[in-house]
Amino acid sequence: MVLATVVCAQNQTPLVSSGKTREIAEHIYVIPDQRVNLVPNIGIIVGRDGVLVIDTGMGPKNAETVLDEVKKITSERVAYLTMTHFHPEHGMGAQAFPSGTTIIYPMAQKTELMEKSADIIRMFNGFSPEIAGLLKPVRMRMPNVTFREEAEVDLGDIPVQLLHWGPAHTRGDEFVFLPKQRILFGGDVVVNRFFPIMPDADANGGNWIKMLERMEKMNPAIVVPGHGEVGDASLITKMREYLEFVRDRVQQMKSQGNALAEAEKGLEPEIRAKYKDWDNPNWVKNAIDNFYK
Ligand SMILES: [Zn+2]
Repeated sequence: MVLATVVCAQNQTPLVSSGKTREIAEHIYVIPDQRVNLVPNIGIIVGRDGVLVIDTGMGPKNAETVLDEVKKITSERVAYLTMTHFHPEHGMGAQAFPSGTTIIYPMAQKTELMEKSADIIRMFNGFSPEIAGLLKPVRMRMPNVTFREEAEVDLGDIPVQLLHWGPAHTRGDEFVFLPKQRILFGGDVVVNRFFPIMPDADANGGNWIKMLERMEKMNPAIVVPGHGEVGDASLITKMREYLEFVRDRVQQMKSQGNALAEAEKGLEPEIRAKYKDWDNPNWVKNAIDNFYK
C-alpha cells in the first residue's frame, strides 16, 4: 500500500477533543476534528430508544473520549456503532464500546478490514510513536450486522439510513443519511478543505464522482465531512468539481501522449495552485495516478 506519510505533516497527536461537542440539529451532535490530521468528525445521534455513534477515533483511548462525550449529552445507551470506512482513525476504537452495542457497517468494509488491518496498522505505527501508542492496544472487534448496499437503523424517532454505493476513498465506504433532518455524514468521500485521499489501488475516482452526483441529488441541508468543518451541500459539489477537474486534465495530458510521470510533473503544480487553501496537497499525485490508470 502507498498511503503516504504526509497525513501526519502537522505532527500533532490525533486525539479526539473533549468538551467541543456541538449540536448541529436537534438530537444530532458532532465532535469536531478541529482540523487535526487523523482525527475524524464523529457523529452522535440521540434517538428516543438509544444512541448511534458514527466513527470511533483512533484506538480505544479516543473511543473512551467519544463515550464520555456521549454521557455528557444523554443517559441513553449506545445502541449502535457504525464506521464510515476501515481506516484506523474511523473504526479502530470499537472494542471500547459496551458489549451490548450493535456494530453495523457494509460487508465490503468488513472484508477490507480483515484483509488490510495488519498492513495499515504497521504503516500508521511508522508515522509517530504517539500514533503507535494509540494503536498498540487495538483488538479487532467484528461487526454484529453487515449489509450490502443499504440498512436502516431504528432509534425510535429518528430514521437513519446507512448507505454503501461501491468503492471511492476505500472499497467499503459508508455514508449516513438522516432523511428527516436531511443531514449527511459523508465519511472521507466528502472532506472540507482537505485534498481527498486515494490511498491505494482500491480507491476509485470514477465511481467516487458518480457517488457524489447521487449525493448532490439527495440535497442535504447539512453535510458533516469526514474531516474539516461541517457545511452544506456545496461541500459535495466542491469535491465533485475537484475530482472532475483532475480527471479531465489527466485525460487531456494522456491523449496528448504524455506518460504518467509527465502528467504528474505537469499537473501537480497546476492543481496545487488552483486549490491552494486546501490542506495535505501531497495527495494530489495519487489522484493523478488514479485517473491516469
Ligand atoms: Zn480515511
